[in-house]
Order: sequence, then structure tokens, then C-alpha cells
Amino acid sequence: MLPSTYNAITMGIPRNAGQTSLPESPPVGNGASEHETLLKYEAILNNASVGIAFTKDRAFQHANRAFEELFAWPAGGLVGQSGMAVWGSKEEYAEVGSVVGPLLSQGRSVELERRMKRRDGTLFWCRLQARPVDPVNPVTGGTIWIIEDVAERRHAVERLQQLNEELERRVKERTEELARANDKLKGEVNERLHAEERARHLSLHDELTGLPNRRLMQDRLAHALAQARREGWQVAVIFLDLDRFKNVNDTLGHAAGDEVLREMARRLTAILRDSDTVSRVGGDEFVVVLSHTQVETDLAPIAAKLMAELSAPCTVGDRELHVTPSIGVSVFPDDGDDPAKLLSYADAAMYHAKATGRRNVQFYAATMSAALQARLKLENDLHFAVLRNELELFYQPRIDFSSGMVIGYEALLRWNHPQDGVIAPGAFIPIAEDSGLIIPIGEWVIREACQQMKRWREANFAVQSMSVNLSARQFFDSSLPERVHQALLESGMRPEQLELEITESILMANTEETMSLFAQLKRLGVKLSIDDFGTGFSSLAYLKRFHVDNLKIDHSFVRDISTDPDDAAIVRAIVNLAQSLQLRVIAEGVETREQLDFLAACGCQEAQGFYFARPQPAAAVELRAASSRGWM
Ligand code: C2E
Ligand code: MG
Ligand code: MG
Repeated sequence: MLPSTYNAITMGIPRNAGQTSLPESPPVGNGASEHETLLKYEAILNNASVGIAFTKDRAFQHANRAFEELFAWPAGGLVGQSGMAVWGSKEEYAEVGSVVGPLLSQGRSVELERRMKRRDGTLFWCRLQARPVDPVNPVTGGTIWIIEDVAERRHAVERLQQLNEELERRVKERTEELARANDKLKGEVNERLHAEERARHLSLHDELTGLPNRRLMQDRLAHALAQARREGWQVAVIFLDLDRFKNVNDTLGHAAGDEVLREMARRLTAILRDSDTVSRVGGDEFVVVLSHTQVETDLAPIAAKLMAELSAPCTVGDRELHVTPSIGVSVFPDDGDDPAKLLSYADAAMYHAKATGRRNVQFYAATMSAALQARLKLENDLHFAVLRNELELFYQPRIDFSSGMVIGYEALLRWNHPQDGVIAPGAFIPIAEDSGLIIPIGEWVIREACQQMKRWREANFAVQSMSVNLSARQFFDSSLPERVHQALLESGMRPEQLELEITESILMANTEETMSLFAQLKRLGVKLSIDDFGTGFSSLAYLKRFHVDNLKIDHSFVRDISTDPDDAAIVRAIVNLAQSLQLRVIAEGVETREQLDFLAACGCQEAQGFYFARPQPAAAVELRAASSRGWM
């Protein structure tokens, strides 16, 4: 709706203004021509296309035809009517009067648009112009009203406005739609960028720990070397490998293994500077690149710090693990200036650390590459050891204190290497464990030990029991119970004659899986013993839970029992506790009479060691047994 407007225009008073007041006070005199003039005015008035009316004292004096038609009044019907007749309401009439009246009385003209009323009461939009008939006597001279029906124009304007609004609404909608599409597009672009960024990150980082991977580490190493060459710095490459980490995975499961790796990554990152690179390059292998170190910097304390931090107990779930690293270090420029060489040197030094008892730091020396080569060759040769029939079992007797007789033998593996001669298990079992070869090798050991029992039985050489060592990896191989069962069947051995020796780490896993494997083996009827007891971190409570039969006290305690009171006390305590749990205790590594006497006095039931016999081939065992010499 258009607003009502009062538009007061100061009237330019026409020169012939007097004539416009003719209808109210027709000029007198000069009869015919005056009449003619009157008729002319009448004709003009009635033929005008706009409505024209004269009012005085707020009543109609005259209205032309167009006016009457506009308001649907009959000819002459308005004369004498109050101005009210054409207004919608009394209030509006009064309001317009109060505004228009003063202006008209000042001789000014007024324009406004209002809804006015037809005779039948319907309203319609009009444009009104009002002006005094006689500007000289505006108050007394009456008012002339010129009225136009603007309903159509207003309608058109309103329609235009509606169209405009509609257009604006559509434009707004479309703009919003576009904005939404734009936002969506932006979101997609961002998502894409994010995915690309992630892919790039993944291609250069290890997913588990978030550390740089080998590729990124190699880049950084090359970069660090280039810079070090220009600026005279030293660069250290540190290779870290966690000791016996496979045991953690095998015994506690991969989730625990992953947690250990993440913890190690956190520790390494926390100790080192931002400019250093900590990367994970393999299962349990980390490489640290120390760039920007001054040539005279002593790297030994840094390596020692890494060792100490990583060796601190590591809590996984409710368990405390003792994971240690073996560390190898190579240095630019001393050892070389080629990234690949420096890495392989650090690797060789790390292997040397493993070979020298694990949990230590070794700096690269030229001789180590040769050692690494030798190890690689050994691993390669080991692949063929079973096929070429190079493995052999030696047997060491177990002596019963009470009878002084042999009550069984422990089968100990030897490798008759075609060039290197007899190799002891300590030198190749870790390689077999690392490479997975322990599974076929272990299977061979079980079968061979059982077959030996069969041969001895057939030769009328009665042996009560045979002990076989199992590594953790073998124990957690789900086919083990079936293999053992098979070996027993083939040899015709009674199950209780076979004793499987496992290490404490297996008990520590203490998982559902361990329980179930234990139960399966026990169901076969074989005996289970804990080997090297005291070197791990298991407690006697575990032994009870798993219904272990025998406990073998590690020879490191036995060695010093006659000289070290602590070791003597430990052995005594182990024997007492084991007896209260109804476990049979076996002492390993007995070499002297004093050790033997001490163990017997403690209440230990069995012993094994060089004092009685070294591990020997089956033929030597038979010979010794055939002699009439006693054992104790
Ligand atoms: P173990 O099961 O504790 O075996 C006892 C080790 O102590 C044997 O070493 C034995 O030769 C040695 N020994 C026996 N009496 C004495 C002694 O009086 N003094 C000293 N100093 N040592 C003594 P060996 O044969 O070199 O075996 C070492 C380890 O290798 C074994 O320790 C066992 O853990 C592992 N092993 C041996 N054979 C096998 C096998 O077939 N499978 C697996 N998985 N491991 C095996
Ligand atoms: Mg053993
Ligand atoms: Mg042992």
C-alpha cells in the first residue's frame, strides 16, 4: 500500500484565478456572452476526464459528471451532501480536514492519495488535489477538488512491488542456495586437501607411533649430512632394537606389543631435541638421527640416557614390563659419509650389542660389519639345517638326589655346521626365533627326542623321562598340542614321560590363550616345567595357577650358592616355596660337590650339571649308562 501523503504545494495563483470561482459566483452583466461562457465552463467541466467538485463549508456545491461517475452518484446527487459522503469514515474525514483545512486557508494547494468511498460503500484509491477556489479569499471562496482514480496505477505499483519482492526473494533464495553449494564445495575441497595431507603424512610416517618412517628418516639423514658437510658438524645414527620383543607380542598379544612400541616412541621423542629425527623403521626397530652435534660432542652419555629411559619399567594394562633395547651407533664423519653405509653400520653395531648379551650400547667398529655378514650367513644356512640333516640332539642326565640315579634326560640342540663345526643353541636359537625358523626346528626336536626314547626302549635301555625345551614362539603356535600328540603316538611313549620346559615369559602372559594352551597340553598328559626360574619376573603365584609340575632353578643362582649368601638365601627360599606348592625342584648347572651338598641340604630333589655329565650325543649316553659307575 502506498503511504498516504500530504503534499502541500505553494500555489502559483493563476492570473485568471477569478474565473475559476465562476461556478460559485457567476459573473453578472453582459447576459448572452456570460451565459455562453457559463455553458462553455459547464461543457468543459462535464467533459473533463478527471472528477472535479466544488465544496464550500464542507458541503458539495457542484460535482462534474466524471466525479459523480467515479463515486457512483446520480447526476446532481452529491449537491448539498456533506463532504463526508465520499470518505470512508468520520475519523478519516476529520483527520484529512484537520490537515488540509489549515493549508487551504493559507491559500496553498494540497495533494494526497487516499482511499475514498463510493456511494455503495466500496473503497478505491484516489489521487486528490485540493486548492482554494479564490486564493485571495481562501477561507470564504470554497475549495475545488480534482480527483483521479488511481486504483489501477496503485494496483500496478503494488503488483510491481510484489514482483520486486518476489524477485528479491528468489534472488535471496538462489543466493542462499549458491552459498550452500559453495560451502559444500569448500567442505569437499577441504576434505580432499585433508585426505591428501593425510595420505602424504601416512606415506612418510608410521601409523602406529606417528613417527617418521624409514623413507622420511633417510631424507632427513641425507639432509643432515649435507648440512654437516658444509658446516663442519657431526651426525650420529643410532639404531635401537627392543630385546626379545617378539616374546611380548607372542605372550601378551599384539595390542600390548603396540602399546609398548607407542610408549617407547613417546620416550624417545621426549628425550631428544626437535631438530633430531626419531623414526620407526621396522617392527621393534627405531632409528634416531642426531643432527647438528658438534664434532667434539661425546655421544656415549646420550646413548646411555636412551638406554636408561627405554629400560625403565613400562606399564601395559595392569602389568609392568621390563623391555630393554640393544643400541648401535655410527657417526659421520668418523665412520663414513654415505647415508646408506651409516645406517648399515649402526645396524651392525646394534647386532653386535645383541650378540654381547643384549641391553647394551655399541659404537660401530669396522670388524662389526664382518660380524653382521656372518650372522646373515648363519641365518641363511639355518634355513637348510633341517633339510640337510645338520641338527642333532645332545642329552644331559637329570639326577635324583634320593636315589642317586638318572631319572631322565634333557634334550639340548646342537647344529653341526658344515664349515663352522658344532654350534651351541645360544648362537642360533635367537636367530631361529627372530626368523620364525624355530617352528620347523622345534617340531624336529620334539619328534627326534621322542624317537630317541623309542630307540632306547627298543634297545632295552629304560629311560623314565625326556625333557624338551620350547621357546615362547613355539608355545604360542596353535598347532603345538597336535604336534606333541603326533610325536607321542609315533614313538609309543607314555605322555607323562615327556616333559616340556618353558620359560617364565610364557606364564607372565597369563592370558586366556596361555590358559587354554596349558590346558590342552595338560590334557595330553605331558608334564610342564619352568626353565631358568628366577631370571624372569614371574611369581610363584603364577606357577600355582598354571599347575606346573617342575621348577628348574637357573644356574646363575646355583653357580654362587657356596660363595654368595644372597644367592644361597634365594635358592633356599625358592625351594621352600616350591615345596609348599608341591612342585618338584631341579637345580641346573651343578658343577661342584659343595653346590650339590648345599642343594641336597636345602631339600632340592634333582640336579643337572657338568658335575654329573655334560650334554652328550645319544651314543655317549648309552656308553655311560652301560658303565657300572654311580652318579653321586
Ligand atoms: P637350558 O634349557 O637351561 O639348558 C641348560 C643349559 O645349561 C645347556 O646349555 C647346558 O649345556 C648348560 N649346562 C648344563 N650343565 C651346566 C653346568 O654345570 N654349567 C654350565 N655353565 N652350563 C651347564 P646349551 O645346551 O648351550 O643350551 C642353552 C639353552 O638353549 C638352553 O638352556 C635352552 O634354553 C636352549 N635350548 C637348547 N636346546 C633347545 C631346543 O631344542 N629348543 C629350544 N627352544 N631351546 C633350546
Ligand atoms: Mg632347559
Ligand atoms: Mg635352564
